[in-house]
Amino acid sequence: MSSANNGVTITTVRGRQILDSRGSPTVEADIILSTGLAVHAAVPAGASTGSHEALELRDKDPARFDGNGVLKAVANVNDTIGPWLVGRSPRDQAAIDAGLSELDGTADKSNLGANAVLAVSLAVAKAAAGVSSPNGSLWHYLSAGAPVTLPVPMFNILNGGKHASNSADIQEFMVMPVGVNSFSDALQAGAEIYQALKSLLSAGGHNTTVGDEGGFAPSLPSNRDALEIVLKAVEKAGYTPGKDVHIALDVAATELFDEKDNLYVLEREGRSLTPEDMVNLYQDWAGEYPIISIEDGLSEDDWSGWTSLQQLLGGSIQILGDDLLVTNITRIKRSIDEKSSNAVLLKPNQIGSLSETLAALKMAREAGWGAVMSHRSGETEDTTIADLAVAWDVRQIKTGAPARSERVAKYNRLLRIESELGDKAVYAGQSAFDYLGR
Ligand code: PGA
Ligand code: ZN
Repeated sequence: MSSANNGVTITTVRGRQILDSRGSPTVEADIILSTGLAVHAAVPAGASTGSHEALELRDKDPARFDGNGVLKAVANVNDTIGPWLVGRSPRDQAAIDAGLSELDGTADKSNLGANAVLAVSLAVAKAAAGVSSPNGSLWHYLSAGAPVTLPVPMFNILNGGKHASNSADIQEFMVMPVGVNSFSDALQAGAEIYQALKSLLSAGGHNTTVGDEGGFAPSLPSNRDALEIVLKAVEKAGYTPGKDVHIALDVAATELFDEKDNLYVLEREGRSLTPEDMVNLYQDWAGEYPIISIEDGLSEDDWSGWTSLQQLLGGSIQILGDDLLVTNITRIKRSIDEKSSNAVLLKPNQIGSLSETLAALKMAREAGWGAVMSHRSGETEDTTIADLAVAWDVRQIKTGAPARSERVAKYNRLLRIESELGDKAVYAGQSAFDYLGR
């Protein structure tokens, strides 16, 4: 960072309502600096949202967008955050994020809205990068010279649960090209497997329409059938399962859980399972399929179920907390103490600022855990998470199928970063799972 940039300040902060990939409103923020540099950042939105997430402020005005408008959040950017931020240096990310939290004054950002706060937080980082690093590269600015890697992608090629109707109960069947040599090879593998899956589904008489994250959403009789066809697609594309490519699941089990009966309802299969049955099911699957990661295998508050799963499979498989941990250090701390998972999913909008997302990663890493940078099912063309995954050496990224531009934008951004790094580009590959001692 050159001293010539000293004295650069934020002159304009502007919010706007835009649409996400589902056609729902979301928040975008512009920041303009005293140098004239203008940047913008947009926030995504979930569908299988955990109840412990920071609050996404929606207008609840039934006359507009079915109540899903975000004009209140936009007004908070313009009227409250803007006047507070103007005149500050964009390089004071930590102080700005702490100040935004204070300005909001709640634990879950329900006053200003996590959507309003995060849009500004991300735009601040982009603005600082723009005046600090070569090409304005966000990853370069945020890495601050520390070693970086290109993350292993989790390609969600078969969508179910809340992201696709009449498909599998399990929300996401993903492939991870852990064993290939570079990020571009991983992207090629993901795309080839995706196309192979499409032709297998067509040949089997299944539909090839896609779900919210770009993966196919066939009506298969059981979740196991989905696993089988994904495995066949890996082989058909010429990759060796368990060597080149592994399988990862996001069960999103909070959505399957019937609290009243303490049962997980697998509608597709017409059966309900106890937490213990669920854990046994995963153990069976892990014995039969090259599964490397299970996200949200149990519901968000089924702490004892999580602990049994971690005990049984956590030595060899990534037990990844999304709804359980919500990128929140209080919940991550509890999970570390109770040994109920071994990796954290990082969704910046679950917590509402860049600095708090980094704090979640740091806590996980200090506990010897793995980590995954993640999109949401409702996305925009914003590619910030690709830069974060590289800058913070997160080693894994989950950003949907290798299809649909709001997903592919992140993968393509990673290709650009790979080119920027040139022969210094290091693909995380197996090192993403070194923490498991695999
Ligand atoms: P969501 O789904 O964005 O709809 O919450 C993604 C996930 O569960 O990981
Ligand atoms: Zn999830």
